Amino acid sequence: MNQANFFSRVSLDRTGEKRHNQQWLVKKLLDEKSLFYLCHGEQWLGIPEKGLVACFHQQVAKLLKHLDSWVFLGTVPCSSETDCCQEGALSKGEIAEFALDISHLDLSDSELEKLPGEWCYPRELAMVSSERQGSLLAMASTLLHWHRRHQFCGCCGNKTTLEAGGHEILCSNLDCQHKTYPRIDPSVIMLVHDQTSCLLGRQEQWQAGRFSTLAGYVEPAESLEQAVAREVMEESGIKIIDPIYHSSQPWPFPNSLMLAFTATPVSRDITLHDQELAEARWFTRQEIVDQLNSGELKLPPTIAVARQLIEDWFNQGWDTSLSNIIQSVEAEKS
Ligand SMILES: [Zn+2]
Repeated sequence: MNQANFFSRVSLDRTGEKRHNQQWLVKKLLDEKSLFYLCHGEQWLGIPEKGLVACFHQQVAKLLKHLDSWVFLGTVPCSSETDCCQEGALSKGEIAEFALDISHLDLSDSELEKLPGEWCYPRELAMVSSERQGSLLAMASTLLHWHRRHQFCGCCGNKTTLEAGGHEILCSNLDCQHKTYPRIDPSVIMLVHDQTSCLLGRQEQWQAGRFSTLAGYVEPAESLEQAVAREVMEESGIKIIDPIYHSSQPWPFPNSLMLAFTATPVSRDITLHDQELAEARWFTRQEIVDQLNSGELKLPPTIAVARQLIEDWFNQGWDTSLSNIIQSVEAEKS
């Protein structure tokens, strides 16, 4: 099944052709209609129950003077349906959107204290964000994280500069001029299942009862299918066949691209070969329902492709959808 997952469900207008137009970028950075998303360290300006906050130029004008890291995210046509927390104040036209890293500023700075919202971790914001906000957050946080880790050239050690609206990094040493592009780490994530049960695992540091699909990074000179088979063997000792592509998902914590698969087991005896998982178990649909109801089992959040993998398998063999079952359980608790 091919489907768009959270963090890429809305196609952003990246307006890539403008990234090399420095004059246009400067004009838009100074445009009172432009929108700005702010990051400080690992946190983003947001509203805990509503998601990412878009600031207007007048709110960030003083912050723009001393920026080390910023990125042009793209444009959005202005309309009353524009998805930000401050609707109603936008004028017509093409609105540019930027992400600014203001980590170098003290949070007690009076300019920062005037900003709307509070500093939130991106995982928390993603859980309450709209699909468009989720896509913006994924793009912005991956790029600004990349900036922070590439301030010096990996070839000669000289300081780097940002190019192309923050989408390229260039070495400032004229004898080097090494250019780097945003880093994305491919990872496979897979639901191993047969008709009756699926394989889920839990990591030691997860909250009690939390189980999810197996996953891991793709290694050099390895196909995605080989990575699926290797990771399942390493984490559970189970041999699989027939890895089938399901969907993909950008996972901006900090820069993964999750490539989701299903796979068929040819053995069922579990052996934890590496230290990735504290536990791995087979779950029938009935066990999932019973343990969700009893509170023993917690599945990944709806924004994660892991949840989609589990739901798609579960729903093929049960009358009530898994999302309805989980909603009922949560409604009873609250
Ligand atoms: Zn260099």
